[in-house]
Amino acid sequence: MANFKTHVGGAGLVGLAYVGVSVYAGVPFTWNVAGLLLATTWLGGILPDMDHDTSQSLVEIIGIISSTLPLLLFLPNADAVLAVVIPAHIVLHLVLRQVPYLEKATGPWAMARVVIVALAIGLVFIWLRRPEEFKRLSLTVLAAVVLIQIALPIFKEITVHRGLFHTIPAMIAAGAGLYLVLDGEYRLWAAGGLTLGGLTHLTLDEIFAVDWSNQRLKKSFGTALSVWQPDQPLGSAALWVLCAALIVRGIGWG
Ligand SMILES: [Zn+2]
Repeated sequence: MANFKTHVGGAGLVGLAYVGVSVYAGVPFTWNVAGLLLATTWLGGILPDMDHDTSQSLVEIIGIISSTLPLLLFLPNADAVLAVVIPAHIVLHLVLRQVPYLEKATGPWAMARVVIVALAIGLVFIWLRRPEEFKRLSLTVLAAVVLIQIALPIFKEITVHRGLFHTIPAMIAAGAGLYLVLDGEYRLWAAGGLTLGGLTHLTLDEIFAVDWSNQRLKKSFGTALSVWQPDQPLGSAALWVLCAALIVRGIGWG
């Protein structure tokens, strides 16, 4: 199985290529759109492992959601600030990783780092954009960040790693779901980035299931890029139904 660094690097490279493809396809280049596509592809690249028990993915996903979601909820045209928020998020995490304890990749100290970064970003941006409502909004941001900390680990508890979430239909459903949640001109591209990043992850896991040194297949070969979980037929069927429903709804037939 590919490790976390491989997934982050792989999804990053695919994300850059995806930005290139979008420009080639006629999407006007702006840092906001490029940032959005990079962020969604990167997020997709770590999404399938978020239910892994010792996963850094969960911490990273909670981190990026904590830093961006409160702003998306409370600031008008918040998508316009993502181009600043995402680099700020990355830099702050890099800086805090130099601090003893806060350098941990998982566990309570990693979560503390997530909270510090999310609050710092949230409070600064609200102060800059809505100073008159700073007090009210900052309390809401605090509540949102805390809720995200609680909600996602619960999600992790109720899913099985390499179960339904680590499949092609789950990544299609994630993209379709994102498409329905977002609005704006480039939501199809953003949704496509999430699915593309997820498929990149599954492909990397499959590639790393090959033992290159003696050209043998490891036992995990064939389990990463799955469209169906044989031990969870009902769940697999439900997932495909969900995919179809989200896509139909996205197209506007439903
Ligand atoms: Zn994986």
